Amino acid sequence: MPRPIQATIHPSALRHNLARLRQAAGDARVWGIVKANAYGHGIERVFDALRGADGLGLLDLDEAERVRALGWRGPVLLLEGAFEARDLELCSRLGLWHTVHCDEQIDMLALHKTHAPHRVFLKMNTGMNRLGFPPHRFRAAWARLEALPQVDEITLMTHFSDADGDRGVAHQLRVFEEATRDLPGERTLANSAALLRFGSEAGVRADWVRPGIAVYGSSPDHPTHALGHWDLQPAMTLASRVIAMQQAAPGDTVGYGSTFRAEVPTRVGIVACGYADGYPRHAGTGTPVLVDGQRTRTLGRVSMDMLAVDLTDLPGCGTGSEVTLWGRAAGGAQLAIDEVARAAGTVGYELMCALAPRVPVSMAADD
Ligand SMILES: *Cc1c(COP(=O)(O)O)cnc(C)c1O
Repeated sequence: MPRPIQATIHPSALRHNLARLRQAAGDARVWGIVKANAYGHGIERVFDALRGADGLGLLDLDEAERVRALGWRGPVLLLEGAFEARDLELCSRLGLWHTVHCDEQIDMLALHKTHAPHRVFLKMNTGMNRLGFPPHRFRAAWARLEALPQVDEITLMTHFSDADGDRGVAHQLRVFEEATRDLPGERTLANSAALLRFGSEAGVRADWVRPGIAVYGSSPDHPTHALGHWDLQPAMTLASRVIAMQQAAPGDTVGYGSTFRAEVPTRVGIVACGYADGYPRHAGTGTPVLVDGQRTRTLGRVSMDMLAVDLTDLPGCGTGSEVTLWGRAAGGAQLAIDEVARAAGTVGYELMCALAPRVPVSMAADD
């Protein structure tokens, strides 16, 4: 028998989430963001469920080739644009749209030979201070692009730093709107959190929205009630089984570093899942976990290949019990990846992307 760990991708959840985001987007078109191998889910695995998106956004050129190889003829947007001049040849060949965030990318375009002019997304730095032209240089960049025969249409773009936090998006929205007021062209601003939290404002929705994480069923702004709050469904389940039982007497410790010490007699289940599978090592005692669909907690440090769970109050559970690390359990119970992430001091994004290659992945037969 293979080691019992297993990840499952749920196409029905992806479809549901995309429909939910489309509803929030109103008239705006929806990019399905599939960078980082579809946030760890696998581009080939999510592709069919995301065919309903208006475009696919990513940043690795090999991922762009993969979505074209799957037969996707719709828009593909390179979110970081070209890294070197020859990347533009691939853009011409595959009809990729690309972000332009710096002068060097305009220089490359000016030297590029193409029969079909490119659609570009001109990015403004409205306060994130990562990529993009500052507002006072945006118009000059736009004028340079506009004058190039290599450029067809220019879409205006920015990215929010605090859409999921207390600061929100208003300060950046104001900068963007002021600096683009009399420029023609479509606009795109919102990631998942901006769309879900502030999408009732037409200026935030604009012409295109760019949800990533919410497509996969995580809403980072609501770690404790992530699944219910925005009506999203988890697109990934990580599950394993209890492979051994221990009985800890008061004073006994569990795992490396003896970080958990039993105060009462404790039934300990040992689960075939560790940090080499992508489970976060920093998730300490008390991280939520489902065993046979019932909520309990982890005990002690996560090892490379195993972790321990508390089965004291679940007398019916033991060796062979199903363990849901995140996602859906057999009986319908769910555990949000965001809850596990929070216990480990990180975000659901990182856990999804860190699913280890050694974990077998299957597709749910739920639709
Ligand atoms: C990753 C990314 C997104 C998607 O962000 P989520 O928070 O996952 O919704 C949108 N736009 C850009 C430019 C990105 O890099």
